[in-house]
Formats: sequence, C-alpha cells, structure tokens
Amino acid sequence: MTSSLKKTSPRIGAHVSAAGGLKNCIANAENIGATCIQIFGASPRQWNTSMPSEEDVRAYHETLKKSIVEAIYLHAPYLVNLATLDKEMLKKSVALLTAHLKIADSIGARGVIFHIGSGKGRQKEFMTAHVVEAMKEILSSVHGDTQLIIENCAGGGDRIGVTAKEIGDIIRKIGSPRVTVCIDTAHAFEAGIIDEYSAEKIHALFDEFDKEIGIDRVVALHVNDSKTAFNSHHDRHENIGEGYIGLEGFKNLAREPLVQHMDWILEVPGFDDTGPDKKNVDILKKLFSSL
Ligand SMILES: [Zn+2]
Repeated sequence: MTSSLKKTSPRIGAHVSAAGGLKNCIANAENIGATCIQIFGASPRQWNTSMPSEEDVRAYHETLKKSIVEAIYLHAPYLVNLATLDKEMLKKSVALLTAHLKIADSIGARGVIFHIGSGKGRQKEFMTAHVVEAMKEILSSVHGDTQLIIENCAGGGDRIGVTAKEIGDIIRKIGSPRVTVCIDTAHAFEAGIIDEYSAEKIHALFDEFDKEIGIDRVVALHVNDSKTAFNSHHDRHENIGEGYIGLEGFKNLAREPLVQHMDWILEVPGFDDTGPDKKNVDILKKLFSSL
C-alpha cells in the first residue's frame, strides 16, 4: 500500500480512571495507548457532584496538550433515570445530568454519554415525551456545544433507548444537533437487535441508525464483547474475543464503512480484571492494521 492510499482508521481508546485528579486520566490513557477516552466526571454512584477545581482543570489541560489523547467523553452516573415517573427522582436525575454536562463543558469534553432509564409499566410514547422534556431542560441550562449522548441499553423491563427507532423518536422531538448517540456493541447484542456480528448484519444495524438519525450523529462506539447470550437483556461486558460476539465479529465491524468516523471506546473488564487494558486496545488496533 502506498502512503497516498493510507486508510484513516477510527480513534481507539477506553474508559480510564481520573481518580486522584483529572490530569491522571491522561497518563492512564497513554499507558494503554488510547487516543480517545471516557471518564467519570464525578463519582458514578453519588447524587452530590462538585465541579473540579480551577487548578485541577488547568493541570489537566496542560497535560492534555502534550498527550496523544484527542477526544474525551464523560459517562454519566448510573443513578440517572430520565424516564422515571417518580417526580423527586426525575428532578434529581435532571440536576445530576446537568451538573455532569457542565463538567464536560468545563474540560472540553465532547459530551456526556448516558442511559435514558426506565419508567415502570407506562406506555412507551408517554415515557418518550417525558424524556424529551427532561433532555430539553438539561440542554437549555448548559450553553455551548457539549453533547448529550444517548447510549443504547441492553433492554428488558421498561427500559427506553433500545432500538434505532426509539432513539430516533426522541432525537426528532428534541430537534437539537447537541443530541447524539453512542452505540454499545454488547448492549445491541444483549438487547436482541443484532444476533451475530456478521458483515451483513452489522451493516443492517448501522444502516437502520443511518435512516433513523443519520449516521454522523452516532459519534462513539462502546466496543465490548458480551458475557451473556443474544437477547439476554443482561448487561455484562467481556474482553474482546472472549465473549459471545467473538474476534471474528469485531473483525467484521472494523471493515464496516459506516463506523469509521466514530470513536471506539472499550469498557471491558481487562485481562487482569483491572479495567480496559493495553491488550484489548492492541487487539482493536490490530483489526485495522490487518485490513
Ligand atoms: Zn457502554
């Protein structure tokens, strides 16, 4: 291959820890060779959030400037549920997601990736309207271009945000370019919207997202193998090649034209169970170098 024909491949990275100071996430990214990362902006299991200090943000920007990291995403706390019918819970969820969107804005992150949640036993249309209102409120309280990034979930119960159509309905009703999408490969499989990662089925899946929301709106991929079977509705991630999707599935994914512009982010347990590691990053990089 001549250099003029050099293919541009997606950024590859992972969820990394920012414990002990924001700037630490950059060193953690570089240790595993990640050029795009996801972090928690604050504790993922707490309702009270504090903004990072100016000094923390300054040190982070200094470190970031000299690093290989090109794109940063925040993952919202697991407590957020915008589809809940409990008024108090909804209020707290809106406030929490707003706070995290502010943090994302203050550190120059692309946006906050979040799960919509579930609203037990009510009509999906009702819940969708409800989610739309909540998301509009959050966007209006944080200016700038930081995105609210909907992640598809593993389904089951009354969870919202499983299919391209469901996510598309919400996006159309909000009508803001700041609402984008992250597709998790394990969740799609566990939710039952793709039964195998063959070339044809991968293309059909992303083609549906393209028709519903426009593929450019899918900004990130959570690249995870699945520890649980197709349609299990059970969200358990596995290292690349060790789960039900398998290495062949990810090889097929790397060849799919519709996913090349997305940031590939690992959320796998790691081969030493210490979180996404260099080995998983290297497996993904190799998928592209061997194309
Ligand atoms: Zn995910």
